Amino acid sequence: MTLRDLIERKRDGGHIDAAEWHAFARDLAAGTLPDYQVSALLMAIYFRGLTDDEIVGLTEGMLGSGRTLELAHLKARRVDKHSVGGVGDKVSIVLAPLVAACGVAVPMVSGRGLGHTGGTLDKLEAIPGFHTRLSLSQAAAQVERIGCVLMGQTGEIAPADRVLYAMRDATATVESIPLMASSIMSKKLAEGLNGLVLDVKTGAGAFLPTLDDDLALTRTMIALGARHGCPVVALLTDMDSPLGIACGNANEIVESVQSLKGGGPPDLRELVLRFGAEMLVLGGVEDDLAAARTRLERAISSGRALEKFREIVAAQGGDPAVCDDPALVVPSARVREAYGSPRDGIVQRVEPRAVGKGITAMGGGRTKMADLIDPTVGFQILAKPGDRVARGQPIATILARDDASAAAGRAALDAAFVVGDGDVVRRPLISHRVTAAGVEALAARQSDGPLGTTR
Ligand code: URA
Repeated sequence: MTLRDLIERKRDGGHIDAAEWHAFARDLAAGTLPDYQVSALLMAIYFRGLTDDEIVGLTEGMLGSGRTLELAHLKARRVDKHSVGGVGDKVSIVLAPLVAACGVAVPMVSGRGLGHTGGTLDKLEAIPGFHTRLSLSQAAAQVERIGCVLMGQTGEIAPADRVLYAMRDATATVESIPLMASSIMSKKLAEGLNGLVLDVKTGAGAFLPTLDDDLALTRTMIALGARHGCPVVALLTDMDSPLGIACGNANEIVESVQSLKGGGPPDLRELVLRFGAEMLVLGGVEDDLAAARTRLERAISSGRALEKFREIVAAQGGDPAVCDDPALVVPSARVREAYGSPRDGIVQRVEPRAVGKGITAMGGGRTKMADLIDPTVGFQILAKPGDRVARGQPIATILARDDASAAAGRAALDAAFVVGDGDVVRRPLISHRVTAAGVEALAARQSDGPLGTTR
């Protein structure tokens, strides 16, 4: 069977069987498939979708294209978290050391920026010297020694997904439930986990347009986890506006360290504590979510979470001084410019897609697989939907590398901010909790205060 046959079959709505997916994943990982044919198959999948069997075939093919992290001998249970992708989403960077500081091992394999969303690896690499390319044996040794690793996919971990992930980004085929589910779960299942939490973004900045799609994606990932004995808990979280204040790679590291020190924006802290509590329960160190939250809060206030991050940064070659004064350690933008509200009124929307695409236009994201990114560019989003603002009041700061990049930043914010007169009803920060047992709708969101502070 040739790849051309598979493209033709999928284009016409036909079925690709498990053996064919496995061969496809093997060849992808070996680098023997022409980009143009893989791109065509991706587009056919995007339009035609995959059956449940095909999703299993592709996921297990990608999982089998590499090896698995062998950590079953560890006393601590291994639990990880993955986000479907958001703007300003630096939760993983705070969460992984925090949870590891509480006694659950976190072998975290993350991705790079995808579409309009940022990637944990790109953010971490803004720390001078920090490297994310670890071999499986290095990763296993680090988890054994300090309880956590923050790494990228190598030729060893679901390498077929690594190729596909980059190609989806460049071919506008990210927004597909089967491609997202298989991508995320092939990496996560390669970590040999005892449990997984998923952050499924909902709203204007999410990859998928409707709650039904978000739930379908979530259920697909939970089913893939169950097939491999990995319990999955998913929280559906708000991506109608960027998370926190900082958006952009270096900028988000600064905010992550603030959060590890007990500060930072409340929405970020709340997500970290909610996901962390689920991870501590899955990891067997606490029986209930309330006790787990208290343990996490203590790990932050005692400084243990920050110290764990320092250990991780040092172990991976980064400058540990980032834990002391991050703004002095990560590279900073040459141009800083205040962006004022266009009028008096109430912020109606801060479109995450416009913010994310703006970062790419400023030089902080990729439009082609080989693009190098500038970690310094981004935004500080100072006003959230529902905030009352006055004409000219700074509602964002543009962090740019030169005048042209600042102009791209201004244009992006012109598109992102909508200031009007009506009241704003915001989506709950966490709207649903989903497990194999079903879907639970959670409480409505509290109102938010000025300049992005949640009361
Ligand atoms: N994260 C991934 O690893 N893959 C996706 O497709 C989306 C988010």
